Amino acid sequence: MYAFDLKDELLYGYRLDKAEVTVTAPRSDNNINISDIFINPYRNPGNGLGNNNTNTNPTPLPYWEYSGGENQDQDQKPCKGDPVKNPEIVSSGKSGKKGGTFGCTRKDSNMVCGGVKGLKNHDGIDIKAKVNTSTFAMHDATVSKIRNSFNPGQYKKDSYGNFVLLTAKVNGKTIFIKYNHLNKVSVKKGDKVKAGDIIGINGNTGNAAAKGVIPHIHIQTYDSNWKSINPANFLHTKFDSNYNSIPNKC
Ligand SMILES: [Zn+2]
Repeated sequence: MYAFDLKDELLYGYRLDKAEVTVTAPRSDNNINISDIFINPYRNPGNGLGNNNTNTNPTPLPYWEYSGGENQDQDQKPCKGDPVKNPEIVSSGKSGKKGGTFGCTRKDSNMVCGGVKGLKNHDGIDIKAKVNTSTFAMHDATVSKIRNSFNPGQYKKDSYGNFVLLTAKVNGKTIFIKYNHLNKVSVKKGDKVKAGDIIGINGNTGNAAAKGVIPHIHIQTYDSNWKSINPANFLHTKFDSNYNSIPNKC
């Protein structure tokens, strides 16, 4: 729906179907670099996205990330255990792809993590999530808590934005799974969901709406004592030593 051929269709200020395209820093040679292109999917009423498009000041998204990059079939039902089809770890600024993984994986000269100066804790895993695709339940679960008060793309400092908290039993143990930065939540507290059921719409609410942040789901998992544990343990997809997904079948 949002794919378009840059060569044919893009002009400065061109309106893309029912979204809006802006091009920053047009070049003196009139060429457009793909990184100059931002898409605002919420600006125009009646495009069927989000909460009736009430967000009047959303964050335009880089075209390439908005379009889902290489992962064009993300909206299909994933393998049991995965929140989207073919999940990929998203890079986190100067920390790179490792910064999207769990633990003392981020660089910060002012912090100490695990006794190591210059590292910061990342309490979860960041899975690339094309905006306005579906968020899927990883495991059979009960919805324990939600927040759905953010408009799509709405920014708030230090916030997880809209989220869903699921209580699941995996390998006989109770765990909590929290999906953060959703554009919309489509379940309510007390609902029972099966692995692969749609629980929301991916996006960028809370601090993930900051400019330059690649849309992702920040997934957190906790044991029954609310001790934070690595969500990678509960994903179907595994990752290699470079944090790339290892292709596999369901
Ligand atoms: Zn994160």
